[in-house]
Amino acid sequence: MGWALALHGGAGDVPRTLPPESREPRLATLRRCLDIGTAALREGRTALDVVELVVRELEDCPHFNAGRGSVLTSAGTVEMEACVMEGATLHCGAVSGLSTVANAVSLARLVMEKTPHIYLAFDGAEAFAREQGVETKDPSHFITDNNIERLRQAKEANRVQIDYTQPAAGQSQKAQAVVDDNCQTGTVGCVAVDAAGNLATATSTGGLVNKMPGRIGDTPLVGAGTYANALCAVSATGKGEEIIRRTVARDVAALMERGDALPLRDAAARVVAGAARGAVGLVAVSRQGEVCMAHNTTAMFRACATEAGHTEVGIWTDAADAGTGADGETVSVAL
Ligand code: ASP
Repeated sequence: MGWALALHGGAGDVPRTLPPESREPRLATLRRCLDIGTAALREGRTALDVVELVVRELEDCPHFNAGRGSVLTSAGTVEMEACVMEGATLHCGAVSGLSTVANAVSLARLVMEKTPHIYLAFDGAEAFAREQGVETKDPSHFITDNNIERLRQAKEANRVQIDYTQPAAGQSQKAQAVVDDNCQTGTVGCVAVDAAGNLATATSTGGLVNKMPGRIGDTPLVGAGTYANALCAVSATGKGEEIIRRTVARDVAALMERGDALPLRDAAARVVAGAARGAVGLVAVSRQGEVCMAHNTTAMFRACATEAGHTEVGIWTDAADAGTGADGETVSVAL
């Protein structure tokens, strides 16, 4: 069935009243990243190169919760994490606790390719970044005014929250404005299958607003937020603790490879439906070039394209939002 690509910019309870000035820049970034990934696949780049390329673009965009737009810990610091995995070889790399690395996803790939290990975190990961000469920034580069305000809100409400969480009733107009305008950011991820049938996935995040320093979420955990094998590639988003408990990404692959051998869409839908409501979204592709974008949140920022001609860019999932390609296929599933 040829190449396919899907990406997400996080899942959560995004109000339908989201104003155009908040919606459009994010949709534009999703479209641009989809075009970049599609062009790279058409040029014959590998799935692994493509997912890294796309996630780097998303990390550089302050509208999403990764790289420059990362949310803050309870200490007001940034601790970024990322994971990359190649399906055919099961090679993978992950990083956590980064405060200066511009593109965590590329450091995760270097862990995969240049070390005997899979996962580096905190000081060791930062030292490895310097040794490898990757681009770094002063930690203040990642601390945006919007994320300072969001941390303030979360502390006021005494909550650790995914970045789409709605404000509590009665909060200040300023806080409400930040939620309306700037809080619709999210963890980013990309999955791809190239024309040769190679699968790869990458996910990158700043984690949860007001998380404890040292908290590690699902994103860098192979099998939880990120997983690829010879059958499929998956990148998840949502409440990390729920995704970890349910080994969401690995479970999709497991349902495809075990006795019941479910098709991608059914496997993804079953896993997402089995998780706590409002907690999980994922994008996935199969070796056959199928795509699924499933969520049990009200929304997931997402986009996909296939060689067969299906293209979709959306936030919520309904007839108006989910585009269908020449094949008439719909790949978004709201549960
Ligand atoms: N899954 C991420 C985490 O818990 C958050 C997200 O997807 O927005 O760290």
